[in-house]
Amino acid sequence: MKNYDRIKAVVSLDAIAHNFEEMRQNISEDTKIIAVIKADGYGHGALAIARLVQDYEYIWGFAVAAPEEALELRNAGVTKPVLILGIVFEEYFSEMIARDVRLTVCSLSMAEKLSREAVRQNREVHIHLAVDTGMSRIGFEDTEKSAEEIRVISGLKNLCIEGMFTHFARADEKDKAPAEVQLGRYLRFSELLQRKGITIPVRHCSNSAGIIRMPEANLNVVRAGITIYGIYPSAQVERDIVKLEPAMEIVSHVTFVKNIPAGTAVSYGGTFVAPKPMKIATIPAGYADGYPRSLSNKGWVLIRGKRAPILGRVCMDQFMVDVTDISGVCPGDQATLIGRDGKEEITIEEFGDLSGRFSYEFACCVSKRVPRIYIKDGKVWGEQTFFE
Ligand SMILES: *Cc1c(COP(=O)(O)O)cnc(C)c1O
Repeated sequence: MKNYDRIKAVVSLDAIAHNFEEMRQNISEDTKIIAVIKADGYGHGALAIARLVQDYEYIWGFAVAAPEEALELRNAGVTKPVLILGIVFEEYFSEMIARDVRLTVCSLSMAEKLSREAVRQNREVHIHLAVDTGMSRIGFEDTEKSAEEIRVISGLKNLCIEGMFTHFARADEKDKAPAEVQLGRYLRFSELLQRKGITIPVRHCSNSAGIIRMPEANLNVVRAGITIYGIYPSAQVERDIVKLEPAMEIVSHVTFVKNIPAGTAVSYGGTFVAPKPMKIATIPAGYADGYPRSLSNKGWVLIRGKRAPILGRVCMDQFMVDVTDISGVCPGDQATLIGRDGKEEITIEEFGDLSGRFSYEFACCVSKRVPRIYIKDGKVWGEQTFFE
């Protein structure tokens, strides 16, 4: 790590550990947690998080979105269950079964193919059934016909129906009624299967919003995603139940400072023209780092504990800010793009909104060009960089 990084994402594993503990305290004692670390842990780094929490007793396992993400965890020696939450194409079946990756199943035909491949390998495949109760994304319909298909699946060789889940579309809204309806449909479908003699040991419904505000949806496990990273699922979710700490700060350093006379245009397109003599500073980060171009003429950074507004367009690798009212700014000064500096703080939630992205998207979009620096017990614990 350099003293004057161009840009870095500082990820606090202490904050992540705190967020897990806060969630654990809010769920029932016999409910476990699936840590959702898809999209490289929402941009924070999946491996560092897996290593941090894999031995926690209440961690059931991990969930990802892509087969490659599951293999990354297995290749790193993660032994707890890894579940892929979406549908995987057939060409991956063989490798996923060989590496003991749990797959989501939404049809009899997929289950039959998995069973055949598992028999061929003389291994067992563990599946989780997805049930569509209102998201209309993937999953079995909660009908008698589906229940019959699942009865057939339960008899397939070398295949174990380990889990069944549904996904809430609106648990992060003020009105919890739509999520309650989904939970009710899931539970009724679960009972229907039970009456057919199918008992599924790992039942899960809750996402982060459910973990915070739907204790009735705890069941056997819950799927924690955005809350791991210290970000609330939405502005409508209560902040006093589970107290989260943001895990990621993004910092850069000023490379250039200059005075410009009134009438000077700044950056591509000349969308900002100085109305008076100004002092401006250049920040060596841009949209190629995942810093949204839509913050052009809108966002700000923190320098010396003060807000420095963005002037003109954010470029691929640089942008300019107004430091006229911040005394003594010089090259090398730290510029906080996300995080706290003195009394000021910029959160991913705030800039997710301001940029027209969305908090989840903002975090996922921090690009591979930005090194992740991990902090544990208050000290630098490791670093993950894309460049060799
Ligand atoms: C991404 C995802 C989650 C995590 O959602 P959060 O809102 O981040 O908690 C849970 N379940 C499924 C099926 C998902 O796709």
